[in-house]
Amino acid sequence: MKAHSGEVGVFVRIRPTANFSQDIIECLPDGQTVNIHHKKDTRKPLCPRKIQRSSWSFRLEGVLQDVSQEEVYTRVCRRVVLGALDGYNGTVLCFGQTGAGKTYTMTGSTESYKQRGVIPRAIQEVFQEVQKRTEHTFSVYLSYLEIYNETLVDLLASLQSSALPSPRSMVVSEEPGRGVFIRGLSLHPVHSEEEALNLLFEGEMNRVIGSHALNRNSSRSHCIFTLHLESRSRTLSDAKYVTSKLNLVDLAGSERLGKTGSEGQMFKEAMYINKSLSFLEQAILALADRRRDHVPFRQTKLTHALKDSLGGNCNTVLVANIYGEASQKEETLSTLRFASRMKCIRTNPAVNEHMDPAAQIKKLKKDVQMLKEELSFGNTLVNRPSVPYDPLSQAQLAEIDSQVQRYLEGSLKEISIISVSQVRALFAKFKLAVHRGQEKKVNARLRQTYNLGEEDQRADTPAVKEWDTRGSTEEDEAGSFEVSHKNTQHPSSTRAKTKKSKDKPSQSKRQGEESPLSKKRSDSASKPKLNSVQSPEREQELQEPDTESQEPQESQPNGKEPFHPDSTLTKAEAFDDFKMGRGSKLNRILQENKAVLLERRSLHRQLTDEVNAVKREIDCTAATMQQYRETRGGQGRYSEPDDTLLNQLRELKALYRQRYEVLNDIKAEINYCQHLVDQCRVRLLSEFEKWYKKYSLVPEEDLETSMDNTLDQCDDNQLPPESSSSESFHNARYRMLRRRNTRSLCVTPEQRSSSSGSGQRTLPQIPPVS
Ligand code: ADP
Ligand code: MG
Repeated sequence: MKAHSGEVGVFVRIRPTANFSQDIIECLPDGQTVNIHHKKDTRKPLCPRKIQRSSWSFRLEGVLQDVSQEEVYTRVCRRVVLGALDGYNGTVLCFGQTGAGKTYTMTGSTESYKQRGVIPRAIQEVFQEVQKRTEHTFSVYLSYLEIYNETLVDLLASLQSSALPSPRSMVVSEEPGRGVFIRGLSLHPVHSEEEALNLLFEGEMNRVIGSHALNRNSSRSHCIFTLHLESRSRTLSDAKYVTSKLNLVDLAGSERLGKTGSEGQMFKEAMYINKSLSFLEQAILALADRRRDHVPFRQTKLTHALKDSLGGNCNTVLVANIYGEASQKEETLSTLRFASRMKCIRTNPAVNEHMDPAAQIKKLKKDVQMLKEELSFGNTLVNRPSVPYDPLSQAQLAEIDSQVQRYLEGSLKEISIISVSQVRALFAKFKLAVHRGQEKKVNARLRQTYNLGEEDQRADTPAVKEWDTRGSTEEDEAGSFEVSHKNTQHPSSTRAKTKKSKDKPSQSKRQGEESPLSKKRSDSASKPKLNSVQSPEREQELQEPDTESQEPQESQPNGKEPFHPDSTLTKAEAFDDFKMGRGSKLNRILQENKAVLLERRSLHRQLTDEVNAVKREIDCTAATMQQYRETRGGQGRYSEPDDTLLNQLRELKALYRQRYEVLNDIKAEINYCQHLVDQCRVRLLSEFEKWYKKYSLVPEEDLETSMDNTLDQCDDNQLPPESSSSESFHNARYRMLRRRNTRSLCVTPEQRSSSSGSGQRTLPQIPPVS
């Protein structure tokens, strides 16, 4: 049989007897088949039509008749023991009727060395192998459990210094990574064959004492003797180690209740045995049936304790012990049926490999130390200063910033490379500089394209016109012309604030200032209530969030999960790059839409000013008329105002209405543009979030590789290859940046320029989401 072949090995062992019933039990010469012939019962002639089956054939892995204990061990158990030493769990079970030879097979005779059973031989083999396998260190622990009437008994509890655990305190438990184990069962370290045998005999003795003192029959309990092995390589200093369990199980007698005619205590025992063995059978049937995904292991202590030792990743072998006498043929048949069901279980043996985190850390620390020494040695050879390993200080970062600025201005010819962390910081600063320059260029181009003045000039245009209608006699008419009263504020102060925050977007973020969203809230809260004509769009425009800096934050649901400042910055940087690369088309359309929106708003502003001017004239004329009335009224007679004044007022009102209608049209256009801008922004953000999520879940190794490549390029004092399609490079780099919270970028100028808008006047279409 192949080692770890993936099937349960099933053997039949026939107890030697002088009365071997050859006509009932037929062992074929192939050594693997046993046929049971059943003579027809002549006392039951009542069912002539019922065809009674008279023979059964069982083909197993081996039929062990008149074989020595040594041969049994070699054929049945050896490969399982060797597998356990390699890290595979192994289980050897003896099943059968009481007196059929289970204990003889498993433990053997304690008096005769030659007739020792599987357990002492397995112990011997384990320690011989431990001696031989010098490249590994082994730890061997031992436990001996008895399950009697569904109660767990520690057969080695007598060796514990602490008080004996009560049987109730022992439970079958399961833990991820550890598998099934008995909580409360004593585990004894053993260092030699002798120590282990001492424990085996101690356990056997406790089993016998228990049989007498507690009036329990040893053949009516299940016994699980377990060797727990752990091996670590001596040669490889890695953190891997393997563990395994070798379970040697002597099951209780499988005779049926009816046959034994038990009473009282015996009856109770037989009930429990029948229950556990029939659940064992059920578990085995479920294991053998590949369509079933649930195996009822937890129904009894026995099946639960053997959960990871029956099938699964375990090497499992069953010895079915039978009598050779004809009188036992019913039980023999039943035992063989159980054995043939067991044969159907497929196993998938696997090594139980583990990682020791403490050893892993130790090893990595050692590796790092060695590499530092290598580096230092290399630097000494070429007379280079030693490499600093600590993160750059604020002063060093400031110096790098100043170097980059001077380098870009031309006052510094070259920047000498000192360390990888310095190169990273340099790239980050360059990236920032390129980004800012690009942004300025795009803004300038858009302003030029749409004939918009400089942003600063807008600050000089009065945005709010006061309009006090209290003195007017035309309240009703004039009141109905009001454009808006509710969103008012002092324009210059707000604009100044907005401009300031626009000028220093990253700085405000770094210093932990309030986010644009919170700024928006606080700004609106501090607005004075003025009775004025104010276009709502103007205010919106003033508070129009800076897409460059705000959009990644906006993507947080309801703004309830603010990023940590550093991570915000990193995500914002990732967003910048997304807009330059994958999201460039959407971003371009967004910018174009925003530009059109700005233009319409500018127009709206002009018209609002005009409408306000007309309104002022209306107020003025109305005031003059009122004055006229009052003056005349004071002289004792009422007089109608001059016709010219009335005509003028009428004309002004007509003009007001006409301008107001145009204003409304523009307003509708603004709303439409705003809708497009919002839609674009939402689309851009959602695409970015998808992209960001996707690339922030990349395995560490990929990130490491990508970073290594970047560093290689940096070490060579070269910029990375300039390619407009280097998306994957950037994706990988940003994932690394996000993870390490490091601000370091190498961006190609082409990518930057690809983000600039084309500047069309027509409202661009929003592309469908792919
Ligand atoms: P079980 O544990 O199945 O109840 P035992 O192993 O206690 O049965 O065996 C009952 C008796 O039969 C013991 O005295 C044992 O020595 C003997 N016996 C069982 N099998 C053999 C065998 N293969 N060779 C010699 N004696 C055996
Ligand atoms: Mg026994």
